[in-house]
Amino acid sequence: MSTDALIDYADATARFDPVLGIEVHVELGTASKMFDGAPAHFGAAPNTAITPTSVGLPGALPTLNRTAVEYAIKIGLALNCQIAQVCRFERKNYFYPDVPKNFQTSQADEPIAFDGYLDVELEDGTVVRVEIERAHMEEDAGKNTHVGGATGRIHGATHSLVDYNRAGIPLVEIVTRPITGVGDRAPEVASAYVRTLRDIFVALGVSEARMERGNVRADVNLSLRPGPDAPLGTRTETKNVNSFRSIERAVRYEISRQAAVLDAGGTVVQETRHFHEDTGATSSGRVKSDAEDYRYFPEPDLVPVAPSREWVEQIRASLPEMPAVRRRRLQTEWGFSDEEMRDAVNAGAVDLIEATIAAGAAPVAARKWWMGQLARKAKDDGVGLAELNVTPAQIAELQGLIDAGRINDKLARQVLQGVLAGEGDPEQVLIDRGLEVVSDDGPLLEVIDATLADQPDIAEKIRSGNMGPIGAVIGAVMKATRGQADAGRVRELVMERVQA
Ligand code: MN
Repeated sequence: MSTDALIDYADATARFDPVLGIEVHVELGTASKMFDGAPAHFGAAPNTAITPTSVGLPGALPTLNRTAVEYAIKIGLALNCQIAQVCRFERKNYFYPDVPKNFQTSQADEPIAFDGYLDVELEDGTVVRVEIERAHMEEDAGKNTHVGGATGRIHGATHSLVDYNRAGIPLVEIVTRPITGVGDRAPEVASAYVRTLRDIFVALGVSEARMERGNVRADVNLSLRPGPDAPLGTRTETKNVNSFRSIERAVRYEISRQAAVLDAGGTVVQETRHFHEDTGATSSGRVKSDAEDYRYFPEPDLVPVAPSREWVEQIRASLPEMPAVRRRRLQTEWGFSDEEMRDAVNAGAVDLIEATIAAGAAPVAARKWWMGQLARKAKDDGVGLAELNVTPAQIAELQGLIDAGRINDKLARQVLQGVLAGEGDPEQVLIDRGLEVVSDDGPLLEVIDATLADQPDIAEKIRSGNMGPIGAVIGAVMKATRGQADAGRVRELVMERVQA
């Protein structure tokens, strides 16, 4: 439970200028670990994916994973970084049970990539350039589980378990320079930045990048200052926030909390903080160590890494299209407006629309389905679009039935309901439910003639140029055919009849 004093968010951002700094750790999707041959998989039985090197047994020596270096270079290049001619590993010394060597093999003064930037697009299309200070290679720690307490934290636990499967999994840590000038949009910028990174990791194929599994973890630094010209204030670092929504909430909370501290004449304590999903609050962790406390020194068991320029250029040439570039290309190809494209991106519909178009649908139609009826269905069911029980190929087939005149829009919605209910492909549902448009004029004329005979004034009005009542005739035909008539054809037939 939080007892922090808070200031209203709008007040806080009106009186103080927030400055962000974000550290993101991404677990690389290599087959083996950073410095040994143990498998780097998720979900193995505890302490089975280890070697003597993983657990730091005496005499066990590290060897560097070439693929991990390649992935780190890919990430550096995608973030517009320089790639070091030579870089080194260092020992970052600290004692903690999940670090069996009592140090983490990391990089300090000589990261593999440095001086880059990433352009981050916010929901309304605003682009914020985030400067990247460095991206360095290191290894993950093992995982402690504290048992017997109420909170899962060490306080109150009766005992702790350690799983070293994760110890030694390759990581790249990406560190921004201070992100300034974003004002009250700081929470949104923080979350959009991590989301943009996540999309890049997926496009590069360097990580599964699943937030919920901790493949991507963000530490969010936040400080306040009186105004944009003032020196940076004291920051806090909220550790291991692992969803986009949590990142936004954590930043928002820290802004309100620090503003209250400063407003009351207090000073912000430099410390790490934990974010609590249930309350949206952060709480004090430990007083933050400065770098010198870690006693970094060069790792004597690994030679310096000197990626050849040829290799770096080969990797650069092999980079896939970046997500932002791809989105711009698709927008042009599809002829979507900025707003239409942004909505599709925000709805997670871009891949689905692309696949639907690839399966033969026109871009306008593909967008209409995924952003219309299917988006509503996904929202009602509380699931993502991709989880709906319908494929892009089925949507393209459905649109094909409309384009061929075999069903109208209204019938198509019923066909789609059938597809979503697991009744089969659109063609199958159409046949099973008997939904095809009545293309034979005979049954339509029967109803038209009967309606006109019942209400002679309708024909009279239409003949005299009052087209209002024609809707009543079309409605009667639609009712009689359970919606399976082509309204345009019915209108033509009515006009023929009244003018005959
Ligand atoms: Mn780190």
